[in-house]
Amino acid sequence: MQVLVIGGGAAGFFAAITAAEAGARVSIRESTGQVLAKVRISGGGRCNVTHACFDPRELVRFYPRGERELRGPFSRFQPGDTIAWFAERGVELKTEADGRMFPISDDSATIVDCLRSAAQQAGVTLELRSPVRHIARSDTGLVVDDHSYDCVCLATGGSRPGHALAQELGHHITPLAPSLFTFVARDPRLRDLAGLSMPHAQVHLNCDGARFEQSGPVLITHWGLSGPAILRLSAWAARELQATDYRASLSLNWIGCSEAQASETLHQLASSHPKQGIATRAQFGMPKRLWQALVRAAELPDTTTWATLGKAARRRLVSELTACPLRVTGKGQFKDEFVTCGGVDLSEIDTKRMASKLVPGFYVVGEALDIDGITGGFNFQNAWTSGYLAGSAMAVGD
Ligand SMILES: Cc1cc2nc3c(=O)[nH]c(=O)nc-3n(C[C@H](O)[C@H](O)[C@H](O)COP(=O)(O)OP(=O)(O)OC[C@H]3O[C@@H](n4cnc5c(N)ncnc54)[C@H](O)[C@@H]3O)c2cc1C
Repeated sequence: MQVLVIGGGAAGFFAAITAAEAGARVSIRESTGQVLAKVRISGGGRCNVTHACFDPRELVRFYPRGERELRGPFSRFQPGDTIAWFAERGVELKTEADGRMFPISDDSATIVDCLRSAAQQAGVTLELRSPVRHIARSDTGLVVDDHSYDCVCLATGGSRPGHALAQELGHHITPLAPSLFTFVARDPRLRDLAGLSMPHAQVHLNCDGARFEQSGPVLITHWGLSGPAILRLSAWAARELQATDYRASLSLNWIGCSEAQASETLHQLASSHPKQGIATRAQFGMPKRLWQALVRAAELPDTTTWATLGKAARRRLVSELTACPLRVTGKGQFKDEFVTCGGVDLSEIDTKRMASKLVPGFYVVGEALDIDGITGGFNFQNAWTSGYLAGSAMAVGD
């Protein structure tokens, strides 16, 4: 079996290694001078390889695009298989408290080296600075630059030139949009508070009538908001936010407890600490500077104590704490963990084999597909799963 993999990223390497280990003759063509570039920079240089979630029904819920279609693939190759795959090649993974899994070295180079050496041992040939620009069908398979292949695997990530190759063969590309980005939200409340975070926030996003909600850590940045809850919102609302040019309204519950609970806690402070100045001591585990910014936003005079806090003022403070209104006016420019939403239309892919339903011998894997996950190792898991299924199928020309 003669196999060409287009793209030397995580998904391309996994497909190539799997096919070559099963006996196929495999080459990878990579357009740049470096393979596995994203693996190297991933997870802040540590590479969040996968997530400790072993039930396919649960795992699919972390994918804003691909949830339904990944059920089958994950029943064939899931995080447990990823762990075993790397362990067999000498790389042990560890699980952090939130379920994210990293190599025990805490160094993405461990994963890059493992994939490179597995590819070399399996006899995969690598062509760098070798972009594929055209692909065509022939009677016997597929033709790329006058070479005939039994199988060609598209593993070009979210790149448009890669999608153009799929289109050349008749595939459709669903609309593309960035996912996993931070929000620009300039507000006097957030001024000079960059670096402060709240671990149990709840965020409601209203994007031209479409509503989204996420809970988790929120981090204040120089230009607005970041943190897991914000990145997850950006993924679930990726298309809606693109449609409104990243303008939306946001209601932020900083402390993660209900309006009634917050009100009751403040009410009790009136009897336990009547003389204490409200601005002098932060409550709800909030950093003092953030607490003071919210007290100012609630328009409480500096001299207010818990005993002199009137009903209306308490309501305003509770509202700042549990439903703080902020305007999103743009998308952060820093690529914290940027992935592409949209890609090759999944209705045209047989997800048992990640094979094209339109073109025999053509396979699509990884981010080139209309699949993307939230942060936490889910995007790489899609790369490993789809790469493994395509690689296994290509080895036998299935
Ligand atoms: C900063 C950052 C951090 C991330 N961290 C994590 C993380 O910790 N965990 C996680 O799960 N996900 C993470 N992600 C997402 C993850 O990196 C991607 O989802 C994953 O790399 C996709 O793999 P892929 O092989 O499909 O595509 P890619 O890794 O994008 O690889 C595609 C390759 O194809 C090549 N190519 C494109 N067009 C052509 C062509 N025409 N001819 C030849 N070659 C071509 C490209 O140069 C590239 O090397 C991160 C992303 C970023 C940007």
